[in-house]
Amino acid sequence: MNIHEYQAKQLFQIYGIPVPDGKSATSPESAEQVAKKLGGEGWVVKAQVHAGGRGKVGGVKLAKNLTEVVEFSRDMLGKRLVTIQTDSTGLPVNSLLIEKLYPIKRELYLSILVDRASERVIFIASAAGGMDIETVAHETPEQIISVEVHPAAGLQGYQCRKVAYTLGLKGSQVKALGKIMQGMYDLFLAKDASQIEINPLIETHSGDLLALDAKINFDDNAVAIHPDILAMKDPSQEDDKENHAQQFGLNYITLEGNIGCMVNGAGLAMATMDLVKLKGGQPANFLDVGGGTNVEKVCEAFKLILSDKSVKAVLVNIFGGIVQCDVIAAGILAAIEQIHVTVPVVVRLEGTNVEEGRALLSNTGHNIYAADDLAHAAEQVVALVEAA
Ligand code: GDP
Ligand code: MN
Repeated sequence: MNIHEYQAKQLFQIYGIPVPDGKSATSPESAEQVAKKLGGEGWVVKAQVHAGGRGKVGGVKLAKNLTEVVEFSRDMLGKRLVTIQTDSTGLPVNSLLIEKLYPIKRELYLSILVDRASERVIFIASAAGGMDIETVAHETPEQIISVEVHPAAGLQGYQCRKVAYTLGLKGSQVKALGKIMQGMYDLFLAKDASQIEINPLIETHSGDLLALDAKINFDDNAVAIHPDILAMKDPSQEDDKENHAQQFGLNYITLEGNIGCMVNGAGLAMATMDLVKLKGGQPANFLDVGGGTNVEKVCEAFKLILSDKSVKAVLVNIFGGIVQCDVIAAGILAAIEQIHVTVPVVVRLEGTNVEEGRALLSNTGHNIYAADDLAHAAEQVVALVEAA
């Protein structure tokens, strides 16, 4: 799960990571009020979307006066921002972060994440901040340093100093960086984050360190035990169909093909998609309806699949281990009748009560094709799409 920059900066403050003075706003008027209250010589108006790369496409603007704060806010709010990290439709800008403008001496990079290779939490740092870290890693890998944190020992002072010296920090800055890294580490563990990225971490002319940008991703499997984090969720920043699926306990991911797939079990869903591709078709989605499937879930799954107008046929592949095939067959029939499914539906059922299930689906008068094995089912659905 992702959160907005302004929310990430609220968490930073709790963990002692210094951030610019600022506040979020949802209208040009409130943006002006925030700027007035902050005072100072200038402000930064930042579009709040769940994606980076805003600076390059007008999502981060430096305002010299209050008139510009209002003007930039009006330009950004209500629009969709397309950045290098979004798809071609972009993300809606419903809120802004207004911050005091800080003079930048240097832009640094600092992040913490789980490194799967070493199976440790690691920090990645670079003096080449403000840029896309993948580009830095690709073009000048010598500019990046990483330190691994031992899970039992925790973050050590010498590790923070090593990062500080590599970043060219001196005197009291070394201690300040140590405090920032410790704050990131504590936050990372306490809230089950999967990544915290500060890009840029700036050095001001007076030598202070500030997190100018803030990005936090959380482990989806852990957010349920962090109600404070869950409360920060912004569904407007996520795929509509995927949000809807989550409400019904369905695991759904939009893809670009034309064969809708409805399967129980993530492994079986992947195998089904592989087979569809092997037979020359393109899956329109990944959909795992889960173990304890019922009529309601099957109906919702059909609705989701068919809300994608490129779907020309549906392949249902259910293995009745916990669930019984006849219950599933009844669910499929109910769904087809309730939501008037007109595209062909190929059904492959296997497992408990399979004979009863198949009997229910034969001679229904609907566009249903019963397949006796998965390879046959995939061939059939691909042929139906080609004929359509
Ligand atoms: P991103 O493009 O989505 O990663 O947004 P950032 O928050 O990183 O902002 C992009 C760039 O805007 C930064 O790298 C800075 O160069 C600039 N910027 C943002 N805030 C300030 C500020 O307070 N002062 C100055 N001078 N530049 C800023
Ligand atoms: Mn950034």
